[in-house]
Order: sequence, then C-alpha cells, then structure tokens
Amino acid sequence: MSTATNGTSPRSASLLERARTVTPGGVNSPVRAFRAVGGTPRFMASASGPWLTDVDGRRYVDLICSWGPMILGHAHPAVLEAVKDAAAQGFSFGTPSENEVLLAEEIVARVEPVEQVRLVSSGTEATMSAIRLARGFTGRTLIVKFAGCYHGHVDSLLAAAGSGVATLALPDSAGVPADAAAGTIVLPYNDIAALEAVFAERGDEIAAVITEAAAGNMGVVPPAPGFTAAMRSLTRRHGALFISDEVMTGFRCSPAGWFGLEGPTADGAPDLFTFGKVMGGGFPAAAFGGRADIMARLAPEGPVYQAGTLSGNPVATAAGLATLRHCTDEVYAHLDVVAREIADAASAALSAESVPHRVQWAGSMFSIFFREGEVRNYADAGDQDTAAFGRFFHAMLEQCVHLPPSAFEAWFVGAGHDREALDTVLAALPAAARAAATPAPTT
Ligand SMILES: *Cc1c(COP(=O)(O)O)cnc(C)c1O
Repeated sequence: MSTATNGTSPRSASLLERARTVTPGGVNSPVRAFRAVGGTPRFMASASGPWLTDVDGRRYVDLICSWGPMILGHAHPAVLEAVKDAAAQGFSFGTPSENEVLLAEEIVARVEPVEQVRLVSSGTEATMSAIRLARGFTGRTLIVKFAGCYHGHVDSLLAAAGSGVATLALPDSAGVPADAAAGTIVLPYNDIAALEAVFAERGDEIAAVITEAAAGNMGVVPPAPGFTAAMRSLTRRHGALFISDEVMTGFRCSPAGWFGLEGPTADGAPDLFTFGKVMGGGFPAAAFGGRADIMARLAPEGPVYQAGTLSGNPVATAAGLATLRHCTDEVYAHLDVVAREIADAASAALSAESVPHRVQWAGSMFSIFFREGEVRNYADAGDQDTAAFGRFFHAMLEQCVHLPPSAFEAWFVGAGHDREALDTVLAALPAAARAAATPAPTT
C-alpha cells in the first residue's frame, strides 16, 4: 500500500495552490481542507448518482453526499427537471411565491409537532433564528447546549461544538465575544444528572435547551434512553423551550427525521425544530418551525425580527420540494439496506485486522469510531485513534471511495448507491483496514 496521500491528483493540487492565494486555506468550509487526514482535497468537477468525478477525471463513490443533502443521489433526474423549470421562470422574486407554501406544507405534513415554519437559507440561520425566537418568547437569555453538538457557526452556539471545530481540535472560536459565550451553558451530552443540576440552579433564567435530535457532528451518538424525555420534562417544568436541531437528521433518519423514530415523550414533543441539508436538495434552503403560538412571535406577526433576501428562493425551494417528494418509503428502506451493508463490511474488515472500532447508528445514519466501547458523549468521541482513521481514509480514497475527511463525521448514503457503487466500497475495505492497522513508519 502506497503511503502517498496526494500525488495522484495533479489538477486538484494546482487548484488548491491557486485557491490558497485567494481564499483562506483554499476552501470555503474548513473540513474540506483535509487538515484532519492530511493530503490534498480533491476538487470535484461533476457528480451523478453515487459518483463524484474530480478535475483529473477520477471517479469516487461518494459517502459524504454533500454532508447529507444528496439523499436521492447527485443530479437526480426529477430534481434536475424541477430546478430547470423553476430557473426558467426566474431566479428570485423578492416577493412571496407558491413553492414556499408547498415546501412549508410538505414539512408541516411530515413532522407532526411542527405547525408553522419559516424558511431560511442555511442551517446556521435556522438555529440562530430559533435561539432568538426562544429568547424573545421567554424573555430569558441563557441557552443550554451539549458538548460535541454542532448547530452551525452561530456565535452563542460555537462553544464546544462538533463538526469542523472537533476536526480541527479548536477549543472554541476566536472572535466570539465573551458576552455571546457567557449566555451559553455547555453540558456533556447524554448526562441527565448534569441537566437536572443546571435547571435546579438556574432554571428560571434558561430560555432554551438546544440539542441535535441525535448527534451526528461528533460522529453518530444517539440520545440515550430517557435523555430526550429529560430535556422535554425539565424545560417544560421550568418554562424554557426545547429546540430539536434536525438539520442533519431531518428527512434522513425517517420521513419525519429523528422525531419520526423516537416520537413524542410523555411530556410531549420539542417546541421548535430546525431543518436544513436534505430539505434543500443540494440548494441553500433551511427552516425553523414548531408551535404556532411561538412562531407567531416572529415579525411581521410579532416583535422578534428575522428576514432574508433569498429566503424561500424559488429555485432552492423547487429542489427541496422535488427531493422531499421523491423521498419515499422505498428510498428510506434502500438507505437502511445500503448503510447496513457498508457498515457491516467495514466492521468485518477492521475486525479481520484487529483494528479497534465501534459502529453507532441513528436510523440509517451511522459512523465508525476508531476505538472500542460505546461512545456516549464528546469526551468518548475524542478518545479514538484519529491517525488510524487518516490511514483508512486515504487508502479508501486511493481506491476511489470518498469518505468524510474526519473521524468525527457521519457517513452518508443515498438512493443512488447501487450494486456497482457498493461493490467498489466493499472491494476497497480490506486494504483500507490493513492500512489502518499499520502505523506509518517514522522517518
Ligand atoms: C450542518 C448542520 C448545521 C448547520 O447548517 P449549515 O447549512 O451548514 O449552516 C446546524 N445543525 C446541524 C445539526 C448540522 O448538522
């Protein structure tokens, strides 16, 4: 097995060189830079079904799926058609349009506790707006979040975040004012006792608890039995709101996201939800929504301001609507089968090479931690062999399988992952497991 990590993509290397001159790190979102695994990120030229094609013409089975949105596969014909039709009618109106109503109706129909939604352009905007709304509704300031949960790059939510923050081992972000972070209490995920303690002490100051419905940004860590119920009952008892961030899990874990799998607790459902990724079908569309009495506090109905020039963009909403309409029961069943097959084969290959690992699930969403034993929180997730993952990652890449370039991310599959794509993944796994088992020689 070659230890070369980048020698095979000359055009990507040269584009990265140019990109670095005009863009910090050469990328527009940090994890794309491959810092966690080393080597040169591949610049993609096109994508179709389960395949990505880079600027050197190399094909890869895509296990990132744009971090979730490409649930139907790349350039799905029906979505492409909807996008072309919408674009032909004009790109942005700056007025209300029918697609916005249709997409909102689709979301409200799928996620039972969501009575109203407001469309925005990114998951970050969705969580930022949900937090502002929760503070405006309750008249309180404090937000409780969990270490390792990523809610976009909102100032107040960047404390102990997962995703790129975990990948880069940044404790926090510079540029976040102390005041913004001071309004945030960070607790360990899945720790009911810590949550009870904080509510006992400051319950009447807490505006909201925000959580990933099932964590995916520290790798996949589902809520432990009773954790969601504890968040719901404590927030209700103390007059705080419960915000479930389903930007990653929404319309992926099930037709109604993680909520569709777990359902309401004895004390009811979350008050507010945030969505993104799948609901945009690869275009910038996201949303937050929930109880109508809370949503009524938003401008122009109420005093909490929130707006967006491109919110509800007609092309983005057409893509999102076509994507959700084609996310049928058969699609969800296919995701289950494909994810199981990949995870089982990866686990078998790693076991054959005695590489410690642990597979965790949230519906069909999964990730593989390079450690033994259950991962219940961010501290557990951090305690893994990221160097072994890096070797595994590059061996897969050399064999034309593109994993997420970080040990702290979920692996994503889509309806486009067919037999050929699966066979490519299965064929690559034994050598990748061997690479993971073999530490690089120190020179
Ligand atoms: C991706 C993600 C976000 C941020 O969404 P962007 O569209 O990248 O701003 C927020 N929350 C969760 C759970 C996510 O996975």
